[in-house]
Amino acid sequence: MENRMYDVLVVGGGPGGYTAALYCARSGMSVAVLEKLAAGGQMATTGEIDNYPGFEAGVDGFELGQKMQQQAQRFGVETHLADVTAAHLTQFPKRLETSAGAFLGRAVILATGASARELGVAHEAELRGRGVTYCATCDGMMYRGKEVAVVGGGNSAVADALVLAKFCKKVTLIHRRDELRASKVYMEALKNSGIEIRWNSVVKELLFDQRLTGVRLTDVKTGRESDLSCEGLFVAVGRVPDTALFQGQVEMDNAGYLTADETTRTNLPGVYAVGDVRQKPLRQIVTATADGAVASHFIEEYLMEVEGQ
Ligand code: NAP
Repeated sequence: MENRMYDVLVVGGGPGGYTAALYCARSGMSVAVLEKLAAGGQMATTGEIDNYPGFEAGVDGFELGQKMQQQAQRFGVETHLADVTAAHLTQFPKRLETSAGAFLGRAVILATGASARELGVAHEAELRGRGVTYCATCDGMMYRGKEVAVVGGGNSAVADALVLAKFCKKVTLIHRRDELRASKVYMEALKNSGIEIRWNSVVKELLFDQRLTGVRLTDVKTGRESDLSCEGLFVAVGRVPDTALFQGQVEMDNAGYLTADETTRTNLPGVYAVGDVRQKPLRQIVTATADGAVASHFIEEYLMEVEGQ
């Protein structure tokens, strides 16, 4: 088990990671994908994906993740269900310590993506799954006919509120400012949606019995507090990149996204950043898959250089 050596180790089995793995394997490299949960990453939690080309009727995110894994596997990519606990990226070969032992790689692709940002209020973790959720597409239907609230003012929050308004009894959007940052198309859709907006409001407390029963809001302008009853609270306040493991080795921006340009090369030779974890203007499945293909191209060049030395 100890010291398994590959040309390329991919950390994270989302669309960026598996595309990189597929391209590298098709170029003749030995590749292992290290994934802690299941293929697909964030994408696997999305019910219907309509903006990934080639699926005229949309595609289930979990299913698409499985297909990406199987396609890569056809070209020899191994998937190891392993949680990476430490990364030694400045050495050659690079070494990853995981829950399934150590792996060595001549090159490493970091494709760990991003997770939902939490509100940071008391009892949030214990109410997760008992009224507090971070994914309207995944959990929305459980709140059919109920009163719910969505927190956030970006595209995700407005998109979530619009989805929920189709089948929930009442939807309230809670935003900390008096202006949304969502796209025009969403703003237009909001107009006749029946969604109520609580401007300049933040969630101060979660109210609960066994499950969430409501939220206590503070108006940030007046300081006034008010209670809003809701059985579901959908938190959509952005995402946080999963980069804590690489801190101190790989350069990142203030928000923790890995700094790499369109080549996906990071500051460390042989280390590439692919998908949502990379600093970029648009985080989508197509932009993640594109990164994967680009990374493979530059890794091929890098390995030729290393072998020539
Ligand atoms: P986002 O654009 O970063 O918006 C996060 C929102 O949450 C902002 O309104 C922010 O408020 C608010 N917020 C942040 N921290 C908060 C806190 N602690 N408490 C309360 N509110 C907080 O994130 P996103 O909506 O998840 O979108 C991420 C990216 O995906 C964006 O580039 C977005 O355009 C894209 N996206 C696109 C689509 C689409 O086009 N179909 C759909 C979803 C997402 P402030 O406004 O005051 O900063």
